[in-house]
Amino acid sequence: MVIKPKVRGFICTNAHPVGCAAHVQEQIDYVKSKGAISGGPKRALIIGSSTGYGLASRITAAFGCGADTLGVFFEKPPTEKRTGSAGYYNTAAFQAAARKQGLVAEGINGDAFSDEVKAETISLLKDKFGPVDLVVYSLASPRRTDPRTGTTYTSALKPIGDAYTMKGVNTDTLEVDEVTVEPATEEEIAHTVKVMGGEDWEWWIEALMGENLLAEGCKSTAYTYIGKEMTWPLYGHAAIGMAKKDLDRAAEAIDGKLKGIGGECRVSVLKALVTQASSAIPIMPLYISILYKIMKADGSHEGCIQQIQGLFERQLYSRGQRDLDEIGRLRMDGLELRDSVQEQVKDLWSRITTENLSDLSDFEGYREEFLKLFGFGIAGVDYDADVSPVVAL
Ligand code: NAD
Repeated sequence: MVIKPKVRGFICTNAHPVGCAAHVQEQIDYVKSKGAISGGPKRALIIGSSTGYGLASRITAAFGCGADTLGVFFEKPPTEKRTGSAGYYNTAAFQAAARKQGLVAEGINGDAFSDEVKAETISLLKDKFGPVDLVVYSLASPRRTDPRTGTTYTSALKPIGDAYTMKGVNTDTLEVDEVTVEPATEEEIAHTVKVMGGEDWEWWIEALMGENLLAEGCKSTAYTYIGKEMTWPLYGHAAIGMAKKDLDRAAEAIDGKLKGIGGECRVSVLKALVTQASSAIPIMPLYISILYKIMKADGSHEGCIQQIQGLFERQLYSRGQRDLDEIGRLRMDGLELRDSVQEQVKDLWSRITTENLSDLSDFEGYREEFLKLFGFGIAGVDYDADVSPVVAL
């Protein structure tokens, strides 16, 4: 079939297999161009490995460190009539490339929050890998079913305390409007912590440790966003921010356990960029469009793969000075949070309208990146070609 993007609001409902493969290859090429990362993992488990920061982590572990990788993800496989999801195609392309390089690359497509997927992971690790020396927790999900109670929780992208009104860009009509988001209730905050907090990360580590599947010196990290005043009302100080605080709590608890085997656990703070998860957060498309404009102009723009390659090389596996904050998180967001950058974001934000959107922001760049997530708009890919949507993992 000839596959063209079907965009509905903040999601694209199909994906291009050849485009996704090319997007993965671009990231592999970048990591290879940076050279080998010494002291990196040899066997890595990446939970949330198929898109965004998790995919970049899997690519860096494999092609930067030579690691065998087991990826856990939740993606839609293709049929003859419908394309699979982007993460499915990304995984197929990654696994084929890693195996070609002689690395073990296995995937589990299922709900990482469930006991079944944890058990399946343990059994696959025992059969094909042995103990892992890196566990990356990079899930972004709107809901979670707690396997111990059967209750399903939904996260809320809402402020805490008062309703918050801000500008936003409607990604369908390209209009800049004022949007008001009502505050989260106490229950919604608690549910958001249940979904995006650290409990499931702890359960993963406990399950792996209980089966002696964490190697001596094993490291673990989960990803967070902190931001500054511009994004605090809807992120840092919002319901999702409370969930991210809970990750800090979990990291400390996990660190205590990993220390016993000479390992370490830290939260890594990454910059804001376009992923399937961030495009769903009301303030993010406009904030990121403005941020890209400023950071591209001063030459400091980075995408997922640059952030994660840097995280592995200069932070997780650095032998020198690391950039830690007051509670021991690994910081990769310094360039975004510079006062000069945030002041410019504030200024452009205050002046932006539907009419000047493309002058005052890099909304075009945002849209291009967004489409790339689904394998569209990639140089060298023939989008008029008849391609089979069915690709094996
Ligand atoms: P993403 O949507 O690109 O990736 C989410 C991953 O989770 C995918 O691999 C998906 O398959 C997997 N997943 C979701 N639900 C699952 C489930 N139930 N079972 C198994 N797998 C599941 O998101 P992302 O932006 O890369 O986010 C990853 C992490 O990075 C999140 O914790 C996010 O908060 C954090 N982060 C993101 C940004 C940003 O700007 N995008 C910035 C800093 C931190």
